[in-house]
Amino acid sequence: MLRIAIQTKGRLNEESMEMLNSIDINVENAKRKFLSKANNFPIEVLYLRDDDIPGVVANNTAQLGIVGLNEVEEKQADVEIVAKLGWGGCRISLAIPKDEEYTGVEYFNGKRIATSYPGILERFLDEKGVKANIEVITGSVEIAPAAGIADAIFDIVSSGGTLVTNGLKEVERVFESEAVLIANKNLSAEDKELLDEIMFRIESEKVSAKKKYLLMNVPAQNLDKALQILPSMRSPTVMPLADKEWYSLHSVVDAGELWNKVKQLKAIGAEGILVLSLDKIIL
Ligand code: ATP
Ligand code: MG
Repeated sequence: MLRIAIQTKGRLNEESMEMLNSIDINVENAKRKFLSKANNFPIEVLYLRDDDIPGVVANNTAQLGIVGLNEVEEKQADVEIVAKLGWGGCRISLAIPKDEEYTGVEYFNGKRIATSYPGILERFLDEKGVKANIEVITGSVEIAPAAGIADAIFDIVSSGGTLVTNGLKEVERVFESEAVLIANKNLSAEDKELLDEIMFRIESEKVSAKKKYLLMNVPAQNLDKALQILPSMRSPTVMPLADKEWYSLHSVVDAGELWNKVKQLKAIGAEGILVLSLDKIIL
């Protein structure tokens, strides 16, 4: 039985649960439970605060975890980063009161910087040769300068709205983060096999999210043109219709190319164009 640690509540909880559901692993989002078993896959979910996830995966209490890369970096956890998940994106930045003149990273010499990420900050400042005082605060870091607790902050930024509300400006982007799937470095052969199955499903899901299934009718005299517009995984499926003047064409296209393809297909007389989302693509 594999165990995966995910955030109990907070920004990563919902999408972590959605990710498990999207790869057909059924677990209840049992927020008041500590552990919950999937009913169709040999895995159980361990619900934790995100700060604790890198550590439990490193010590094999859980074999897998879903957490922000920022937490893995902060804790310097000895875990394998198996996949970047493409959501939960944010950065950790240095910000100062908006009316201050910023001259470069030396600005921070002798300053007090409030943060929940002392590890990442200390490594950054060391690398730049800057000596500052790090004040560790676990919540509401952004109010520290106005409250007189610090001169600057080092905190998570996504849109930057919170900084503006608090009269701050972002001056150094230090660390880019997103949600990652992490694994213990010494998985048993059996657990590795289950992880491979999970990765296979995640990849299938990723591929299908980027593709659309197209069906349409094409006039017989323009069939060749349609085949040039529509490269498929192998080649499009072509089926003759009862009316000899028309063919039915089925193909898979990149979602980003969809409207461009549709325009070209309409221009050669394609009709009855249907666009379908794909649940999974097994390559
Ligand atoms: P916990 O109670 O589990 O310790 P938390 O308060 O530390 O929760 P959240 O605010 O839920 O954490 O954020 C979890 C993670 O979501 C962050 O570590 C980061 O990787 C990611 N994240 C993405 N965007 C944002 C954002 N705008 N603000 C905060 N975190 C974000
Ligand atoms: Mg936390």
